[in-house]
Amino acid sequence: MSESDRDLKRVFVKTYGCQMNVYDSERMTDALAPAGYVAVDNAEAADLILLNTCHIREKAAEKVYSELGRLRRLKSEAAESGRTVVVGVAGCVAQAEGAEIVRRAPVVDLVVGPQSYQRLPDILAEVASGRRVVETDFAVEEKFDVLDRVSAATKPTTATRPSAFLTVQEGCDKFCTFCVVPYTRGAEVSRPVKAIVAEAERLAAAGVREVTLLGQNVNAWHGEGPDGRAWGLGRLLTRLAEIPGLDRLRYTTSHPRDMDEELIAAHRDLEALMPYLHLPVQSGSDRVLAAMNRRHTRADYLRLIERIRAARPDIALSGDFIVGFPGESDADFEDTLSIVEDVGYASAFSFKYSPRPGTPAATAADQIEESKKADRLARLQAVIAACQKTFNRSTVGSTAEILFERRGRHAGQIVGRSPWLLPVQVEAPESLIGSIGRVVIESVSSNSLFGRLAARPSEAPGRVLAEASA
Ligand code: SF4
Repeated sequence: MSESDRDLKRVFVKTYGCQMNVYDSERMTDALAPAGYVAVDNAEAADLILLNTCHIREKAAEKVYSELGRLRRLKSEAAESGRTVVVGVAGCVAQAEGAEIVRRAPVVDLVVGPQSYQRLPDILAEVASGRRVVETDFAVEEKFDVLDRVSAATKPTTATRPSAFLTVQEGCDKFCTFCVVPYTRGAEVSRPVKAIVAEAERLAAAGVREVTLLGQNVNAWHGEGPDGRAWGLGRLLTRLAEIPGLDRLRYTTSHPRDMDEELIAAHRDLEALMPYLHLPVQSGSDRVLAAMNRRHTRADYLRLIERIRAARPDIALSGDFIVGFPGESDADFEDTLSIVEDVGYASAFSFKYSPRPGTPAATAADQIEESKKADRLARLQAVIAACQKTFNRSTVGSTAEILFERRGRHAGQIVGRSPWLLPVQVEAPESLIGSIGRVVIESVSSNSLFGRLAARPSEAPGRVLAEASA
């Protein structure tokens, strides 16, 4: 082992949950690079293990505690062979549980909330001096600021994948009554234009062709442009579309109330903005929407969809649904089924309501029994699957521009992303990975498209009109 190998420290970050956590995990390893850490892909090889947790799913905290039980054994085995392993909990469970984690799990050396990752090297120095640290402040501006500098200094000049995430916004002020995000991620904070453009330019220079802007409430993003004017997400996307080499832009996740005219117009005007929009509605019933504090009605949402489709008729729409919200009647649930059909989603995520401690809905008296929730979920998913099939079939015979991302499961096959986000499998040489090519869509399965490279000039890409349009 060389001197430099001895100095090298290894960090393993296990990521749970959403794309924002995937992005944050990368930022954590970026922040640790100046302290001599390199990322490894298994816990057994690591000197520092970080669980980047998610609080959205049911029993999230319990799952983290059970994983910590496994790490306790790993840590004591390492200690027996003279190795020190530091264990940390990050992410939304860290933010929600805070000091309770170090109380319940003695294996944990540090707890760090999503807004404090830039402080990891300092926190580790404290841990090395024998302290157990809990750091859950909401210093989000500082986080963006420090991580921007670290990421500029440590990012490789060649990207490993042709698509990348870029966080532009964090937190949420909406306070939907079922959701923990406003409590775990804090108030809405937007990253400044200059930093976003600089990171996007770095990504493009490294070979990234597609960037997805991330935020818990991404379309609430706002900032001051270099022209001194107030910019919204539509204007930001227009600026990012000017970056040479950045051919594709996406953003997620949006709230219906923050879809303004400029953003809708961006879907009409920007070729780089992919015809895909994840716009959760959660329920089709006005009564439930009010109880959820969504601050829009079913009619507002449907009118919005109409305006978006008028701007970009081939857009693929995706949504989120919760069934069995407290007090949801059979009629309310029927309204949810009908809004799925009215919109004609290309895809949607659906969940049974489960109470999140600390949220208003968790203590509502009229909770729905589990068997009813399960039954409603199965019925909803059948309707969503039918819409998805209709949309997927509408793409067959069209020619689409596909960003080739990786090898397929079989030799000679590569997988790319369609403009509508669905993976597309194509028989084509690996040398095409990282490029955008024209593909004729020939067949579909529930979650994939299958195609061949377009050969003839007549097979030019065209806008596909979903049969399922509202
Ligand atoms: S808008 Fe989204 S993130 Fe914000 S409280 Fe509602 S569900 Fe949670």
